[in-house]
Amino acid sequence: MKKQFKIQKLHGISPYIWAIFFILPFYFILKTPTTLGIVIGIILNVVFFGVYRFAFVAKGWSLYVFGLLLIAISTGYVMLYSYIYFAFCIAYFNGHIKRKVPFYILYYIHLGSAAVAVNFSLILKKGWFLTQIPFVVITLISAILLPLSIRSRKERERLEEKLENANERIADLVKLEERQRIARDLHDTLGQKLSLIGLKSDLARKLVYKDPEQARAELKSVQQTARTSLNEVRKIVSSMKGIRIKDEMSNIEQILEAAGIELIYDEKEAPKHISLLNENIVSMCIKEAVTNVVKHSDATICKITIHQKSKEAIITVEDDGTFKGDYPPSQTKGHGLLGIRERLEFANGRLRIETKDGTKLIMSIPNDSAAKDKEGMK
Ligand code: ATP
Ligand code: MG
Repeated sequence: MKKQFKIQKLHGISPYIWAIFFILPFYFILKTPTTLGIVIGIILNVVFFGVYRFAFVAKGWSLYVFGLLLIAISTGYVMLYSYIYFAFCIAYFNGHIKRKVPFYILYYIHLGSAAVAVNFSLILKKGWFLTQIPFVVITLISAILLPLSIRSRKERERLEEKLENANERIADLVKLEERQRIARDLHDTLGQKLSLIGLKSDLARKLVYKDPEQARAELKSVQQTARTSLNEVRKIVSSMKGIRIKDEMSNIEQILEAAGIELIYDEKEAPKHISLLNENIVSMCIKEAVTNVVKHSDATICKITIHQKSKEAIITVEDDGTFKGDYPPSQTKGHGLLGIRERLEFANGRLRIETKDGTKLIMSIPNDSAAKDKEGMK
Protein backbone atom coordinates (compact mmCIF):
# COMPACT_ATOMS: atom_id res chain seq x y z
CA MET A 1 0.00 0.00 0.00
CA LYS A 2 2.77 2.37 1.04
CA LYS A 3 4.66 1.69 -2.16
CA GLN A 4 1.52 2.29 -4.15
CA PHE A 5 1.02 5.67 -2.51
CA LYS A 6 4.63 6.54 -3.15
CA ILE A 7 4.26 5.75 -6.86
CA GLN A 8 1.06 7.75 -7.04
CA LYS A 9 2.69 10.74 -5.37
CA LEU A 10 5.61 10.59 -7.77
CA HIS A 11 3.73 10.32 -11.04
CA GLY A 12 0.21 11.55 -10.27
CA ILE A 13 -2.48 9.96 -12.37
CA SER A 14 -0.30 9.44 -15.44
CA PRO A 15 0.27 5.67 -14.78
CA TYR A 16 -3.52 5.18 -14.91
CA ILE A 17 -3.78 7.06 -18.20
CA TRP A 18 -1.06 4.88 -19.70
CA ALA A 19 -2.88 1.78 -18.38
CA ILE A 20 -6.05 2.93 -20.18
CA PHE A 21 -4.08 3.44 -23.39
CA PHE A 22 -2.70 -0.08 -22.98
CA ILE A 23 -6.07 -1.74 -22.29
CA LEU A 24 -8.22 0.24 -24.73
CA PRO A 25 -6.77 -1.38 -27.92
CA PHE A 26 -8.00 -4.80 -26.70
CA TYR A 27 -11.57 -3.57 -27.03
CA PHE A 28 -10.91 -2.82 -30.70
CA ILE A 29 -8.86 -5.94 -31.33
CA LEU A 30 -11.57 -8.22 -29.99
CA LYS A 31 -13.99 -6.92 -32.61
CA THR A 32 -11.82 -8.58 -35.26
CA PRO A 33 -13.43 -11.77 -36.53
CA THR A 34 -10.23 -13.79 -37.10
CA THR A 35 -8.02 -15.26 -34.38
CA LEU A 36 -4.92 -14.29 -36.36
CA GLY A 37 -6.09 -10.69 -36.35
CA ILE A 38 -6.53 -10.81 -32.58
CA VAL A 39 -3.08 -12.35 -32.02
CA ILE A 40 -1.38 -9.79 -34.29
CA GLY A 41 -3.22 -6.98 -32.54
CA ILE A 42 -2.11 -8.12 -29.10
CA ILE A 43 1.50 -8.54 -30.23
CA LEU A 44 1.54 -5.11 -31.86
CA ASN A 45 0.10 -3.53 -28.73
CA VAL A 46 2.76 -5.09 -26.50
CA VAL A 47 5.49 -4.15 -29.00
CA PHE A 48 4.16 -0.59 -29.19
CA PHE A 49 4.48 -0.03 -25.46
CA GLY A 50 7.84 -1.82 -25.32
CA VAL A 51 9.21 0.46 -28.04
CA TYR A 52 7.49 3.45 -26.47
CA ARG A 53 9.38 2.90 -23.22
CA PHE A 54 12.77 2.85 -24.99
CA ALA A 55 11.92 5.66 -27.40
CA PHE A 56 11.95 8.12 -24.46
CA VAL A 57 15.59 7.39 -23.65
CA ALA A 58 16.76 6.91 -27.26
CA LYS A 59 19.39 9.17 -28.77
CA GLY A 60 20.78 9.70 -32.29
CA TRP A 61 19.59 7.41 -35.06
CA SER A 62 17.79 5.02 -32.67
CA LEU A 63 15.38 7.88 -31.94
CA TYR A 64 14.32 7.87 -35.59
CA VAL A 65 14.06 4.05 -35.63
CA PHE A 66 11.87 3.93 -32.54
CA GLY A 67 9.81 6.94 -33.61
CA LEU A 68 9.14 5.51 -37.07
CA LEU A 69 8.31 2.10 -35.59
CA LEU A 70 5.72 3.70 -33.31
CA ILE A 71 4.21 5.64 -36.22
CA ALA A 72 4.11 2.46 -38.34
CA ILE A 73 2.34 0.48 -35.60
CA SER A 74 -0.11 3.32 -35.02
CA THR A 75 -0.89 3.59 -38.76
CA GLY A 76 -1.33 -0.20 -38.98
CA TYR A 77 -3.72 -0.04 -36.05
CA VAL A 78 -5.85 2.62 -37.73
CA MET A 79 -6.07 0.58 -40.92
CA LEU A 80 -6.62 -2.82 -39.32
CA TYR A 81 -8.58 -2.06 -36.18
CA SER A 82 -9.88 1.53 -36.68
CA TYR A 83 -7.97 2.46 -33.52
CA ILE A 84 -6.43 5.91 -33.81
CA TYR A 85 -5.66 6.72 -30.19
CA PHE A 86 -2.01 5.71 -30.29
CA ALA A 87 -1.66 9.12 -31.94
CA PHE A 88 -1.99 10.66 -28.44
CA CYS A 89 0.94 8.62 -27.16
CA ILE A 90 3.08 9.51 -30.18
CA ALA A 91 2.21 13.21 -29.88
CA TYR A 92 3.23 13.10 -26.22
CA PHE A 93 6.51 11.36 -27.05
CA ASN A 94 7.15 13.79 -29.91
CA GLY A 95 6.82 16.77 -27.60
CA HIS A 96 9.62 15.38 -25.45
CA ILE A 97 12.17 15.27 -28.27
CA LYS A 98 14.77 17.85 -27.37
CA ARG A 99 16.52 18.44 -30.67
CA LYS A 100 14.77 20.47 -33.33
CA VAL A 101 15.47 18.40 -36.46
CA PRO A 102 14.27 14.98 -35.23
CA PHE A 103 11.30 16.68 -33.58
CA TYR A 104 10.04 18.26 -36.80
CA ILE A 105 10.84 15.21 -38.99
CA LEU A 106 8.89 12.83 -36.73
CA TYR A 107 6.16 15.42 -36.19
CA TYR A 108 5.45 15.82 -39.91
CA ILE A 109 5.81 12.11 -40.68
CA HIS A 110 3.34 11.36 -37.91
CA LEU A 111 0.81 13.93 -39.12
CA GLY A 112 1.19 12.78 -42.73
CA SER A 113 0.77 9.12 -41.92
CA ALA A 114 -2.19 9.80 -39.59
CA ALA A 115 -3.88 11.83 -42.34
CA VAL A 116 -3.28 9.10 -44.89
CA ALA A 117 -4.58 6.39 -42.56
CA VAL A 118 -7.68 8.40 -41.67
CA ASN A 119 -8.41 9.15 -45.32
CA PHE A 120 -7.90 5.53 -46.20
CA SER A 121 -10.43 4.47 -43.57
CA LEU A 122 -12.88 7.16 -44.69
CA ILE A 123 -12.66 6.10 -48.32
CA LEU A 124 -13.19 2.48 -47.39
CA LYS A 125 -16.13 3.71 -45.28
CA LYS A 126 -15.33 1.41 -42.42
CA GLY A 127 -18.48 1.54 -40.33
CA TRP A 128 -16.75 1.19 -36.97
CA PHE A 129 -14.41 4.02 -37.89
CA LEU A 130 -17.20 6.35 -39.02
CA THR A 131 -19.00 6.07 -35.69
CA GLN A 132 -15.90 7.52 -33.99
CA ILE A 133 -15.49 10.56 -36.25
CA PRO A 134 -15.79 13.22 -33.47
CA PHE A 135 -13.09 11.45 -31.44
CA VAL A 136 -10.95 11.07 -34.54
CA VAL A 137 -11.12 14.82 -35.12
CA ILE A 138 -10.17 15.51 -31.49
CA THR A 139 -7.26 13.08 -31.78
CA LEU A 140 -6.00 14.70 -34.96
CA ILE A 141 -6.17 18.19 -33.44
CA SER A 142 -4.27 16.91 -30.40
CA ALA A 143 -1.67 15.33 -32.68
CA ILE A 144 -1.13 18.74 -34.24
CA LEU A 145 -1.09 20.88 -31.07
CA LEU A 146 0.13 18.64 -28.24
CA PRO A 147 3.74 18.17 -29.43
CA LEU A 148 4.17 21.90 -30.04
CA SER A 149 2.77 22.90 -26.66
CA ILE A 150 4.76 20.28 -24.74
CA ARG A 151 7.89 21.30 -26.61
CA SER A 152 7.46 24.99 -25.83
CA ARG A 153 6.71 24.23 -22.18
CA LYS A 154 9.85 22.10 -21.92
CA GLU A 155 11.86 24.79 -23.65
CA ARG A 156 10.60 27.36 -21.15
CA GLU A 157 11.45 25.08 -18.24
CA ARG A 158 14.95 24.60 -19.63
CA LEU A 159 15.42 28.36 -19.98
CA GLU A 160 14.14 28.98 -16.47
CA GLU A 161 16.56 26.42 -15.13
CA LYS A 162 19.40 28.09 -17.04
CA LEU A 163 18.40 31.46 -15.65
CA GLU A 164 18.33 30.08 -12.14
CA ASN A 165 21.79 28.57 -12.59
CA ALA A 166 23.08 31.86 -13.95
CA ASN A 167 21.64 33.72 -10.97
CA GLU A 168 23.25 31.28 -8.56
CA ARG A 169 26.54 31.72 -10.36
CA ILE A 170 26.28 35.50 -10.15
CA ALA A 171 25.57 35.25 -6.42
CA ASP A 172 28.63 33.00 -6.01
CA LEU A 173 30.79 35.43 -7.98
CA VAL A 174 29.59 38.34 -5.89
CA LYS A 175 30.51 36.42 -2.75
CA LEU A 176 33.89 35.54 -4.21
CA GLU A 177 34.53 39.14 -5.16
CA GLU A 178 33.60 40.28 -1.67
CA ARG A 179 35.89 37.68 -0.14
CA GLN A 180 38.74 38.79 -2.39
CA ARG A 181 38.12 42.39 -1.48
CA ILE A 182 38.28 41.58 2.23
CA ALA A 183 41.44 39.53 1.69
CA ARG A 184 42.97 42.43 -0.23
CA ASP A 185 42.00 44.92 2.46
CA LEU A 186 43.41 42.72 5.19
CA HIS A 187 46.63 42.19 3.29
CA ASP A 188 47.11 45.84 2.37
CA THR A 189 46.34 47.24 5.79
CA LEU A 190 46.87 44.67 8.51
CA GLY A 191 49.61 42.65 6.83
CA GLN A 192 51.74 45.69 6.24
CA LYS A 193 51.15 47.14 9.70
CA LEU A 194 51.89 43.89 11.49
CA SER A 195 55.21 43.49 9.72
CA LEU A 196 56.01 47.10 10.61
CA ILE A 197 55.20 46.33 14.26
CA GLY A 198 57.45 43.26 14.04
CA LEU A 199 60.38 45.25 12.62
CA LYS A 200 60.04 48.13 15.06
CA SER A 201 59.75 45.96 18.16
CA ASP A 202 62.80 44.00 17.00
CA LEU A 203 64.69 47.27 16.67
CA ALA A 204 63.47 48.41 20.10
CA ARG A 205 64.68 45.12 21.66
CA LYS A 206 68.15 45.69 20.20
CA LEU A 207 68.27 49.32 21.32
CA VAL A 208 66.90 48.80 24.80
CA TYR A 209 70.37 48.90 26.56
CA LYS A 210 72.36 50.79 23.93
CA ASP A 211 69.98 53.70 23.39
CA PRO A 212 67.01 53.51 25.74
CA GLU A 213 65.65 56.85 24.51
CA GLN A 214 65.51 55.68 20.91
CA ALA A 215 64.00 52.36 22.06
CA ARG A 216 61.24 54.22 23.84
CA ALA A 217 60.49 56.24 20.70
CA GLU A 218 60.30 53.04 18.64
CA LEU A 219 57.93 51.44 21.15
CA LYS A 220 55.72 54.49 21.04
CA SER A 221 55.55 54.21 17.29
CA VAL A 222 54.69 50.49 17.68
CA GLN A 223 51.85 51.44 19.97
CA GLN A 224 50.63 54.04 17.46
CA THR A 225 50.73 51.55 14.59
CA ALA A 226 48.81 49.00 16.66
CA ARG A 227 46.15 51.58 17.36
CA THR A 228 45.68 52.57 13.71
CA SER A 229 45.55 48.89 12.75
CA LEU A 230 42.75 48.35 15.24
CA ASN A 231 40.83 51.24 13.72
CA GLU A 232 41.32 49.84 10.26
CA VAL A 233 40.06 46.42 11.34
CA ARG A 234 36.98 48.10 12.78
CA LYS A 235 36.42 49.91 9.50
CA ILE A 236 36.73 46.71 7.48
CA VAL A 237 34.36 44.89 9.80
CA SER A 238 31.77 47.66 9.74
CA SER A 239 31.91 47.84 5.94
CA MET A 240 31.12 44.11 5.92
CA LYS A 241 28.27 44.27 8.35
CA GLY A 242 25.71 46.65 6.90
CA ILE A 243 23.19 48.23 9.22
CA ARG A 244 20.05 46.29 10.09
CA ILE A 245 16.86 48.19 10.85
CA LYS A 246 16.60 46.46 14.20
CA ASP A 247 20.05 47.67 15.27
CA GLU A 248 19.37 51.16 13.97
CA MET A 249 16.12 51.30 15.94
CA SER A 250 17.89 50.70 19.22
CA ASN A 251 20.31 53.56 18.40
CA ILE A 252 17.36 55.79 17.57
CA GLU A 253 15.63 54.91 20.81
CA GLN A 254 18.68 56.16 22.72
CA ILE A 255 19.01 59.35 20.66
CA LEU A 256 15.35 60.30 21.13
CA GLU A 257 15.43 59.46 24.80
CA ALA A 258 18.44 61.73 25.25
CA ALA A 259 16.59 64.53 23.41
CA GLY A 260 13.50 64.09 25.59
CA ILE A 261 11.28 63.06 22.65
CA GLU A 262 8.88 60.19 23.15
CA LEU A 263 9.19 57.39 20.59
CA ILE A 264 6.14 55.52 19.34
CA TYR A 265 7.29 52.56 17.29
CA ASP A 266 4.57 50.75 15.46
CA GLU A 267 6.40 47.73 14.15
CA LYS A 268 8.67 45.67 16.29
CA GLU A 269 9.82 43.60 13.35
CA ALA A 270 11.87 44.50 10.27
CA PRO A 271 10.14 44.33 6.83
CA LYS A 272 10.09 40.78 5.53
CA HIS A 273 10.75 41.07 1.81
CA ILE A 274 13.72 43.35 1.74
CA SER A 275 17.29 42.72 0.64
CA LEU A 276 20.22 43.51 2.90
CA LEU A 277 21.23 46.41 0.65
CA ASN A 278 17.75 47.95 0.78
CA GLU A 279 17.55 47.39 4.51
CA ASN A 280 20.80 49.29 4.81
CA ILE A 281 19.34 52.14 2.78
CA VAL A 282 16.17 52.23 4.88
CA SER A 283 18.21 52.24 8.10
CA MET A 284 20.25 55.22 6.90
CA CYS A 285 17.10 57.08 5.85
CA ILE A 286 15.39 56.51 9.22
CA LYS A 287 18.51 57.67 10.99
CA GLU A 288 18.68 60.87 8.93
CA ALA A 289 14.96 61.56 9.43
CA VAL A 290 15.24 61.13 13.18
CA THR A 291 18.32 63.34 13.30
CA ASN A 292 16.23 66.06 11.63
CA VAL A 293 13.47 65.58 14.18
CA VAL A 294 15.96 66.07 17.00
CA LYS A 295 17.73 68.98 15.29
CA HIS A 296 14.86 71.03 13.88
CA SER A 297 11.37 69.99 14.94
CA ASP A 298 10.90 71.00 18.62
CA ALA A 299 8.61 68.00 18.83
CA THR A 300 7.60 65.99 21.88
CA ILE A 301 6.60 62.84 20.04
CA CYS A 302 8.23 61.00 17.17
CA LYS A 303 6.29 58.16 15.58
CA ILE A 304 7.92 55.56 13.37
CA THR A 305 5.89 52.95 11.51
CA ILE A 306 6.93 50.16 9.21
CA HIS A 307 4.29 48.42 7.14
CA GLN A 308 4.93 45.54 4.81
CA LYS A 309 2.53 45.82 1.85
CA SER A 310 2.16 43.28 -0.94
CA LYS A 311 4.47 45.16 -3.31
CA GLU A 312 6.50 47.46 -1.08
CA ALA A 313 7.42 48.36 2.45
CA ILE A 314 6.20 51.74 3.71
CA ILE A 315 8.23 53.45 6.40
CA THR A 316 6.98 56.68 7.96
CA VAL A 317 8.75 58.97 10.40
CA GLU A 318 6.57 61.75 11.77
CA ASP A 319 6.80 64.30 14.54
CA ASP A 320 4.40 66.74 16.18
CA GLY A 321 6.66 69.80 15.86
CA THR A 322 6.80 72.39 13.07
CA PHE A 323 8.57 72.12 9.75
CA LYS A 324 11.19 74.87 9.51
CA GLY A 325 12.52 74.47 6.02
CA ASP A 326 11.30 75.37 2.52
CA TYR A 327 8.96 73.13 0.67
CA PRO A 328 9.99 71.54 -1.59
CA PRO A 329 13.27 71.36 0.33
CA SER A 330 15.90 73.41 -1.50
CA GLN A 331 19.32 72.04 -2.14
CA THR A 332 21.12 74.98 -0.59
CA LYS A 333 20.00 74.42 2.98
CA GLY A 334 21.06 70.91 3.74
CA HIS A 335 21.77 67.52 2.28
CA GLY A 336 19.74 65.33 4.61
CA LEU A 337 16.35 65.25 2.87
CA LEU A 338 17.96 65.27 -0.54
CA GLY A 339 20.15 62.34 0.50
CA ILE A 340 17.09 60.38 1.67
CA ARG A 341 15.34 61.01 -1.64
CA GLU A 342 18.38 60.02 -3.68
CA ARG A 343 19.02 56.87 -1.69
CA LEU A 344 15.41 55.75 -2.01
CA GLU A 345 15.32 56.50 -5.73
CA PHE A 346 18.47 54.45 -6.15
CA ALA A 347 16.51 51.47 -4.78
CA ASN A 348 13.44 52.33 -6.94
CA GLY A 349 11.68 53.69 -3.90
CA ARG A 350 10.05 57.06 -3.22
CA LEU A 351 9.97 59.82 -0.60
CA ARG A 352 6.92 61.95 0.17
CA ILE A 353 6.97 64.80 2.68
CA GLU A 354 3.89 66.12 4.44
CA THR A 355 4.31 69.25 6.55
CA LYS A 356 0.81 69.94 7.81
CA ASP A 357 0.97 69.14 11.53
CA GLY A 358 4.64 68.65 12.12
CA THR A 359 6.73 66.80 9.59
CA LYS A 360 5.90 63.43 8.11
CA LEU A 361 8.30 61.56 5.84
CA ILE A 362 6.71 58.68 3.95
CA MET A 363 9.30 56.41 2.42
CA SER A 364 8.45 53.46 0.22
CA ILE A 365 10.81 50.80 -0.96
CA PRO A 366 9.80 47.96 -3.30
CA ASN A 367 9.97 44.33 -2.20
CA ASP A 368 12.98 42.46 -3.32
CA SER A 369 11.97 39.37 -5.35
CA ALA A 370 14.98 37.31 -4.25
CA ALA A 371 14.25 38.07 -0.62
CA LYS A 372 10.61 37.15 -1.21
CA ASP A 373 11.57 33.79 -2.75
CA LYS A 374 13.77 33.05 0.21
CA GLU A 375 10.91 33.82 2.53
CA GLY A 376 8.60 31.63 0.53
CA MET A 377 10.98 28.68 0.73
CA LYS A 378 11.28 28.78 4.49
P1 ATP B 1 22.04 68.23 7.08
O1 ATP B 1 20.99 67.17 7.16
O2 ATP B 1 22.71 68.26 5.78
O3 ATP B 1 22.95 68.22 8.24
P2 ATP B 1 19.76 69.90 7.44
O4 ATP B 1 19.24 68.96 8.45
O5 ATP B 1 19.56 71.33 7.68
O6 ATP B 1 21.28 69.64 7.16
P3 ATP B 1 17.93 68.62 5.64
O7 ATP B 1 17.97 67.41 6.45
O8 ATP B 1 17.89 68.48 4.19
O9 ATP B 1 19.12 69.59 6.01
O10 ATP B 1 16.65 69.47 6.04
C1 ATP B 1 16.32 70.65 5.37
C2 ATP B 1 15.58 71.60 6.24
O11 ATP B 1 14.27 71.12 6.48
C3 ATP B 1 16.17 71.75 7.61
O12 ATP B 1 17.12 72.75 7.64
C4 ATP B 1 14.98 72.09 8.48
O13 ATP B 1 14.74 73.49 8.48
C5 ATP B 1 13.84 71.43 7.79
N1 ATP B 1 13.47 70.17 8.45
C6 ATP B 1 13.82 68.93 8.07
N2 ATP B 1 13.27 68.01 8.87
C7 ATP B 1 12.55 68.67 9.77
C8 ATP B 1 11.75 68.29 10.90
N3 ATP B 1 11.56 67.01 11.25
N4 ATP B 1 11.12 69.27 11.62
C9 ATP B 1 11.30 70.56 11.28
N5 ATP B 1 12.03 70.99 10.26
C10 ATP B 1 12.67 70.09 9.52
MG1 MG C 1 19.22 66.89 8.21
